[in-house]
Formats: sequence, C-alpha cells, structure tokens
Amino acid sequence: MCGIVGYTGNQEATPIILEGLRKLEYRGYDSAGVCVIHSGRAEIRRSEGKLVNLDKLLATAPVNGEIGIGHTRWATHGRPSEINAHPHQAGSIIVVHNGIIENYLELKERLTGLGRTFKSETDTEVISHIIDEKFKETGNFEQAVRNALQELRGAYAVCILCENDPGVLIAAKQGSPMVIGLGENEYFVASDIPAILSHTREMVFMEDGEMVVFSRGKAVFSTVAGEPLEKKPRHIDWSPLMAEKGGYKHFMLKEIFEQPRAIRDTIAGRLMEEDGNVFLEGVKLSDGELAQVERIFIVACGTSWHAALVGKFLIEEHCRIPVEVDIASEFRYRNPIINDKTLMILISQSGETADTLAALREGKARGAKNIAICNVVDSSIARESNGVIYTHAGPEIGVASTKAFITQLAALFLFTIRFGRAIGTIDRDKGRTMVSLLIRIPALLDNVLELNGQIEKIARTYMHARDFLYLGRGINYPIALEGALKLKEISYIHAEGYPAGEMKHGPIALIDENMPVVIVVPKNENYEKVASNMEEVIARGGLVIAVCSEGDEEIRKKAMTTIEIPRDSDDLTPILVSVPMQLLAYHIAVLKGTLACKIGKIK
Ligand code: GLU
Repeated sequence: MCGIVGYTGNQEATPIILEGLRKLEYRGYDSAGVCVIHSGRAEIRRSEGKLVNLDKLLATAPVNGEIGIGHTRWATHGRPSEINAHPHQAGSIIVVHNGIIENYLELKERLTGLGRTFKSETDTEVISHIIDEKFKETGNFEQAVRNALQELRGAYAVCILCENDPGVLIAAKQGSPMVIGLGENEYFVASDIPAILSHTREMVFMEDGEMVVFSRGKAVFSTVAGEPLEKKPRHIDWSPLMAEKGGYKHFMLKEIFEQPRAIRDTIAGRLMEEDGNVFLEGVKLSDGELAQVERIFIVACGTSWHAALVGKFLIEEHCRIPVEVDIASEFRYRNPIINDKTLMILISQSGETADTLAALREGKARGAKNIAICNVVDSSIARESNGVIYTHAGPEIGVASTKAFITQLAALFLFTIRFGRAIGTIDRDKGRTMVSLLIRIPALLDNVLELNGQIEKIARTYMHARDFLYLGRGINYPIALEGALKLKEISYIHAEGYPAGEMKHGPIALIDENMPVVIVVPKNENYEKVASNMEEVIARGGLVIAVCSEGDEEIRKKAMTTIEIPRDSDDLTPILVSVPMQLLAYHIAVLKGTLACKIGKIK
C-alpha cells in the first residue's frame, strides 16, 4: 500500500502532487518524495517520516516544473528511510511504484551482473534500472517501458519519467489501483480518487495490463503489449470523505473487502510452487538452526493472540514440535522455561505492542531464537527481532483488526511450510499441496465476501440481543474467540467465545431463547462433535447461527440461520470463517450506531 500521484499540464506540479499525497496518507506514510522535470533535468526531493518533512524540505530546496510524480511510501521491501523513499532514479529513468515486484531478487542479480549498482533496499529500484537498460537498447522511452514491464512479476502501479524525454509521463498498472483524472489541458494520475478529486471529477479507471502515455497535451491509452485502447471516463460525484473510504461506509468495511488483496500481498514473491516451499526473506535462521528448535512459544496480545492459537494447531499438526501460546503480558511476568533450543514467534500488527516487545527482550535475554510477525516495517519488534515475516496488509485504519488478523494467519501458514520443510516433517509433495492452498485463498475470500448482504440481514435479526455466545472446536476455536472479541469491541454487546466441548461445564446454563449462539461447524474431523454441541444448544432454545460448509443440508435443517462458506482444507477454514465473524460484528455495530469511525492505528 502507498500512494502515487502524477501530474502533467500547465500548472506547477509540486503543489498539486503534495496535495494529492496528503489525501492519500491514509494508505500509509513512512516516507515521501517527489520528482519534477524542469529544463530536461530531474529534481528529486525525498524525506523519511510524514509528509510534513517533505514539505519542510521543499520549503528550503524548492523544485519547479509542470510535469512530475510523487509517492508516500508504506514499506514492503527495505526499511523506511530517505534512501528507500521513492522516486527511484536509474540513469535517466525515474519511477514511483505501489506494489510488490515478486521477481526483484532475480532481476537485481541480473542487473548487478550488467554492472549496475543499487542504492536502495527496495524492490522498486529494479524497475527504474530495467527500464533504463531497455532505454539504452532502444532509445525509445515508451518502448523501453513496454519491454521492461513485461519482465516484471507481481503487482505494480507505476508513474515513470525520463530525463531524455522530458515532456512525457507514462503510467501503468498491474494488480495495484490506479485512476487517471482528465482536466482542461492537464492530466492527473493517482492511486485513489481522493488525491485528485478537487481538480476533476472526470476519471478513467485503469485495468490490469494497461498503460497510458501523456505527451504533447494528449493521453494515449494502450495495453502494455501495445494494443490501442479506447477508455471511457466516468463522472465521480462522491464527497471527499466517501472517496477516501473507497465508497464504503466505514474504513472497517473497506478493509474487510480488501482482504483478498491483502492475502495476495502476504504471499507475493514468497511461494516456491515447484519446490513445495516458501521463501521468507526476513527469516535469517538456516535449516540447520531451525532443526535445533525443540519448542516454540508464540507470544502476542488481543487479536494477534487468537492468530497465535491457530498457529499452534498448524505448527503442531504439520511440524510435530510442541507449541505454547502465551499472552504477552502474562509471559513476561511468569518466569517461562526457555533456552537456546526455544524459538519465540512474536505477533504484533503495529510491531510496537509494549508487552510483546518486553516478551521479546525477555526471551532474547534467556537465549531463545525469535521471529516476529508484524505489519509495520521497521517497527520496534521488527527491528529488535532476529528475523521478521512482514504481513504486507497495508495500514489498518479501522478500529477493529481485520485484514491484519487474516494476514497473520497466512504468515503463520507460510512459516509452518518453511519450518516443516526445514526439519523434514513436510516433504516436497505435501509442501506443494500446502502452497497451492495458499494460492486459492484470495478467490475463496471473494466468494465469502458475497455473503455480506445476507449477513447484514442476520445482524438486523439479532442486533438487540444482550449477550452472544461463540463456539468452535480445534483450529476454529480461536476464531470463535476472535468473533466474540470483534462483537464486544465494536458493538458493546457482551460476548464469550468457548471451545464447543466446554459448553457442558458451565456455559450451557446461560442458554435460553434470548441467546444467539454462533457455532463454527464446518465439515472437518470435529464435525460430528460440534454438530452434537449444536443440538444441545437447540434443545435449550438457543438461537443458532451456524457457520458451516456450503450445502450442508443437515445443519440447514437444524440451525435457525446458516452462513455457508466454501468447503476447503481444514487448515484454511479459520481464514474463511473469520470474514463472516467480522461482517456480523460490523453490521451489528453499524445498526446500533456504535461503530467508532476514528482513525485509530496509524502512528
Ligand atoms: N514495494 C515498494 C517499497 O517497499 C512499494 C511499497 C508501497 O507500495 O508503498 O518501496
């Protein structure tokens, strides 16, 4: 996630770009930069931190010109720093990029072999080098861009300038968003509508594999391969606030719907399909070091702790190493038994959770190895840990964690494959099957998101309940906990999550005809048991909302309501089941008017 802006026309480019970037800050901002071309020279200004730092820099070292590009970065590859901030220049080519280039290491190696030197740690810099390489071959900016883009794998929205073709701006997209604004003798490019809404409401939405070349006051659209395209503009009548939320009512809903994209970014560039393995660039432990691990502690707080509980199931099932899960605030005060054969996995969205950081330090002091799972690049936990798996979910603005949680689950699944392959409990064939499961998730999530309308209706039926119970078993028990937490957090309804088998030891006494009970009952090895727990609830008059596998006639007959999710591997079910839990909590909170709309999480 990040924001890109481009401008070409008759006005000064910098103020337009900066205003656009400001409107895109919700997409993340750990550094920012602009490039403007003036008299055939590219002037670049970049700074670490918030946009105001770039403003200050530009006040002391202004740039002028009527064609330019800008970027607010949310790092995926390389820490937030001035050197890693975009734009990136190689030779005469200057690039801003939103996305992840999956084959950047391969390209970097090849380009280094050609004598090129890289200044940053980013994946983006390969784009500027490869275009420059092609430009040297062809002498034609547009052709160079076409040739270069066809060598990239992964996701990009890019704006590109060329010092040797100073009146031309090129933009292209694959997998990351991009919109073009049409003005009077001027054009705008942006990651998202709010950035340019004050200049024009006539917009062209770019599709994957498309490219636009702005030159001599004209915009020419084509595919990256070179076929001409007719693109029709659309009139956008959204208010600025609506535009920021992408037309969704709340950031939380926007982020729920972003989850297929978020998972794609978590796994991007990490899957080795042929080898049935994964490549985790941030995990520095060798196979030999991983093989020495005798015990794992996963330490986290809140929603991340629920992800940790799922991680325990995955790792124990596939790697046969004992895993303990601890709440960070408990771990640090309980004299845990750890040594240099222990691996700690610390999970924190922000990477700043104080108790989790303290637990990491405690573990390090006792000689444990560690790996962090974080969303925010270069956060304290990421910096202090020996290795990190970034979730690449993009900034999470909604108050309740959604995409950060399911990307943590995907990261744990990635780790399980890597660890199992290293210690030999997962062979190549099994690894391949597991990798193919990950590839399927985004499409399955798209299917689950289609249940939104149905879940809103369910929310209307149950919104007045005073209490809710959530039940699950095995790998889905943590998702019952997470469902209950979401509801409490945003709708202020009392909710408890329980392992379904624990019902008879107390909670069953609470069930009556006023108690909605959300039961996670997909077709898996626990199915019969959970289905019989469901019968117990029904016998006491409880109002069963069953989250079950698609087409489960038995459950349909018995439950008051069913939410049916696609049937897939048991390991993936927690990711799929999380989505109806999020939507149910969201809609109840909206109906009750309790959803805080504050921007809560960006530092
Ligand atoms: N992968 C690029 C980087 O880390 C772009 C990240 C973004 O989309 O902000 O610099």
